[in-house]
Amino acid sequence: MERTTRQRSAIRAAMEAAARPLSPQEILDAVRTSVPETGIATVYRNIKLLLADGTIQPVTLPGENPRYEMAQLAHHHHHHFHCVPCDRVFDVEGCPGTMEHLAPAGFVIDHHELTLYGVCADCAAARKDKTARKRGAH
Ligand SMILES: [Zn+2]
Ligand SMILES: [Zn+2]
Ligand SMILES: [Zn+2]
Repeated sequence: MERTTRQRSAIRAAMEAAARPLSPQEILDAVRTSVPETGIATVYRNIKLLLADGTIQPVTLPGENPRYEMAQLAHHHHHHFHCVPCDRVFDVEGCPGTMEHLAPAGFVIDHHELTLYGVCADCAAARKDKTARKRGAH
């Protein structure tokens, strides 16, 4: 396969496999496992192309650089969980609903965004490990 095609399909595959929004750096790390010569400029170029043809969608959390997820996931209403220690963003399936009662009287909600912040399962387990080890040492 031609190098650019190989890189493009590797980028697509990485995003499909992740099933969560990825930053350009995360995409690069994932792609390098199969196409090691890939550079960040290639990732950005392919992000642009995949955005243009509607394969991926940007996920922009407040105060964050955009991450990207597959458009088929993005089209289905969902929310995100931002793990603070590892800086990864995950999809959240549930939705509390329209939250009409939060809007002032007479206001009409058009849409909403919701981001949960905390610690992912991996980080929570790593923390527990560390605490256990610390306790063991004393
Ligand atoms: Zn998402
Ligand atoms: Zn919702
Ligand atoms: Zn985490």
